[in-house]
Amino acid sequence: MDLRPAEVTSILEKEIANYRGQSAMQSVGTVLSVGDGVARVWGLDDCMMNELLEFPSGVRGVALNLEEDNVGCVLLGDVTKVKEGDQVKTTGRIISVPTGYSLLGRVVNALGDPLDGRGPLAVSEADYWTIEQPAPSVVERKGVHEPMQTGIKAIDAMIPIGRGQRELIIGDRQTGKTALLIDAIINQKRTGGGDPKNPAQVICIYVAIGQKQSTVVDVLRKLNAHGAMPYTIIVAASANEEASMQFLAPYGGCTMGERFRDEGRHVLVCYDDLYKQALAYRQVMLLLRRPPGREAFPGDVFNLHSRLLERAAKLADNAPEINPRYKKGGGSLTALPVVETQENDVAAYIPTNVISITDGQIFLETALFNAGIRPGVNAGISVSRVGGAAQIPAMKKIAGGMRLNLAQYRELAAFAQFGSDLDKATQQVLRRGERLTELLKQAQYQPMGVEDQIMVIYAGTSGGLDDLPTKKVLDFEKAFLAHMRDNHPEIAPALVKDKGVSEASKTVLDKAIQLVKGQLA
Ligand code: ATP
Ligand code: MG
Repeated sequence: MDLRPAEVTSILEKEIANYRGQSAMQSVGTVLSVGDGVARVWGLDDCMMNELLEFPSGVRGVALNLEEDNVGCVLLGDVTKVKEGDQVKTTGRIISVPTGYSLLGRVVNALGDPLDGRGPLAVSEADYWTIEQPAPSVVERKGVHEPMQTGIKAIDAMIPIGRGQRELIIGDRQTGKTALLIDAIINQKRTGGGDPKNPAQVICIYVAIGQKQSTVVDVLRKLNAHGAMPYTIIVAASANEEASMQFLAPYGGCTMGERFRDEGRHVLVCYDDLYKQALAYRQVMLLLRRPPGREAFPGDVFNLHSRLLERAAKLADNAPEINPRYKKGGGSLTALPVVETQENDVAAYIPTNVISITDGQIFLETALFNAGIRPGVNAGISVSRVGGAAQIPAMKKIAGGMRLNLAQYRELAAFAQFGSDLDKATQQVLRRGERLTELLKQAQYQPMGVEDQIMVIYAGTSGGLDDLPTKKVLDFEKAFLAHMRDNHPEIAPALVKDKGVSEASKTVLDKAIQLVKGQLA
């Protein structure tokens, strides 16, 4: 047999070329060690940060530590199926979640897989967006100027939130943090009648991190009962899921919101809560042997939260011209992160981090909550740094007076407990403050429209309630609003439209206040 060297060389060259081609598509490694939900893999030379890895038996992992001789990854899914020596493949994909309208009304996990047993999502490959997205740049943004009405009197009046803002909700356990988020979501029904196709409808995303499954079911039931699910997505990484799923869930939820934001829609994303996310992150990072810092959190725990919350934004109208990523300008993504504190300690590590990242905080206090002042908002140390620009003029005018009244009241109330003979002016401040405090109480699942809020707060700040027994304030509120609706339906739209409360409206309101008070007496 005669061998022709040229032929052999050409065959070899072809084989080598093909071999290279294949190796570029996928690299395969071997599991060195596995345990506690993390695995070390050897041989994945061209693995990317945050790349999705495939294990045999269908378990997936995310590469988080890229070291010289191995890759540290967290496992997503059934960790017991992964064994030492297993082959691991890279996928060439950064971890991504499905986005788009088919997610509305659904409950999904951190990776966007449905949990509600209502079948697969109708999404295409293009609907998968990576969970880490760059935040909009300075020129792509615009100042916050539209209100994000929560429907909660104490918040919309004193600590207003604007679309595109990040407002922290902070408080101990069982102080009504989740209740506040749920009410805010229910209230968004007013924006577009609950129809997700209506461009005015605010889309809501509730991300549950490390919560009990029963809590998530409860939230779902409540949102369903109030007709809020058609425009809402629930992303759930419950307490029983791997820590990796818990710390990834907020990024996935944010990406789902960004899809709508980039199409010019308004989105509200609630992260409940970021303290549990930080705990999950700490667990994973300690297992991956990243060096612990303060409170044993890894050094980049600040970045964990800042890169998430920076993605909340109000987009400029010309954003699509600057960056083709945006299909339509003017959209917004508002973030309401929750952080649980221990013993009301807002100066702990994670709370101070998140306070410094957000544009303000709503502080819910156990003492107020237990004293029956619900929602237990401490107006003294709660702030909103940008929302004031977004308040409607009438609310701005009357609520300014209320903040002052309440601040004076709080200062005097502490002293008034000791003395009995108080001068007239002090008694007046106390009387007004008591009525206003009562007026700001609000039951769960009853968010109030902004025009109704203006009317009842006007009743309080104008002094109309000073001679009403405090016990009767909430009865008055109900009767007064019903009276206004039935007899003066023209006032509510005027309050929203006018640049303040007009003299004509004031006359009508004052008369109605006296009338309803008379009926109650
Ligand atoms: P956790 O720390 O367990 O997550 P949380 O701070 O989210 O608690 P919620 O679960 O929202 O608190 O509320 C605690 C309890 O207080 C619930 O039973 C809820 O029904 C009740 N509650 C919350 N807000 C109000 C309100 N405005 N009026 C009456 N009850 C309320
Ligand atoms: Mg809660």
